[in-house]
Amino acid sequence: MEHTAGSKKFLPNPVLLQDEELHKYILETSVYPREPEPLKELREATAELPNAFFGTAPDAGQLMAVLLKLVNAKKTIEVGVFTGYSLLLTALTIPDDGKIMAIDRNRKTYEIGLPIIQKAGVEYKIDYIESPALPVLDNLLGEPKNEGDFDFAFVDADKDNYWNYHERPLCQKMLGLMKLVKIGGIVMYDNTLWGGAVAKPEDAVPEAKRELRRATIEFNKSVSADPRVEISHASVGDGIIICRRIC
Ligand code: SAH
Ligand code: CA
Repeated sequence: MEHTAGSKKFLPNPVLLQDEELHKYILETSVYPREPEPLKELREATAELPNAFFGTAPDAGQLMAVLLKLVNAKKTIEVGVFTGYSLLLTALTIPDDGKIMAIDRNRKTYEIGLPIIQKAGVEYKIDYIESPALPVLDNLLGEPKNEGDFDFAFVDADKDNYWNYHERPLCQKMLGLMKLVKIGGIVMYDNTLWGGAVAKPEDAVPEAKRELRRATIEFNKSVSADPRVEISHASVGDGIIICRRIC
């Protein structure tokens, strides 16, 4: 089934772990039994939507929660909220005085998850901004005090802008998350294996996936060549790249 978001057509990506039984085993043994109740509720509310597959994979979410804890993340950025699975997960994980700047160009889907976020008592940690993400990041970097001010960022929006989110050459200045996240902080990118399409020849990939397949391949190559970060490319969910800023 095809889904449209704006003018672009999207096809759902299959779970990468090709062994369905093993994937089910991981979810049922290690993920679902530990998933906080509000997150489960949000996941189930999202499952009824036609674009439910946009939601962060719960096993990737579990890894994200551990990373947030490992870096003691207090101030985070999220690019791409949808109904709020990764956002609620972050809000439940960071400390009481933590803050998340959450950016999405479409508030309607956030409103589906919002009552659950409110019920969980963590809405006060969220600064939600309805906007395309790039101008918000650019504005943040207009104020030098925001440089290195964030501990963690999660990027899960338009794949063809991932490199711009990472490092945006603008007016001869480098902007982007490489400036906003502190040295030692983490930027995590979602959907970096694009349903496995990155490793297939273009003509073996459905038409609707080709443009973002190309963008993802380019992004993965560029991040791999970036000496400012240590990376791990993990095949959890639809693929994630974890970048730790080292300089
Ligand atoms: N992290 C979410 C899933 C995000 S889906 C979860 O766990 O559920 C991708 C989201 O990115 C969509 O909600 C879409 O509106 C948003 N998006 C796409 N392009 C964007 C852009 N340029 N700026 C801001 N948001 C964008
Ligand atoms: Ca995603």
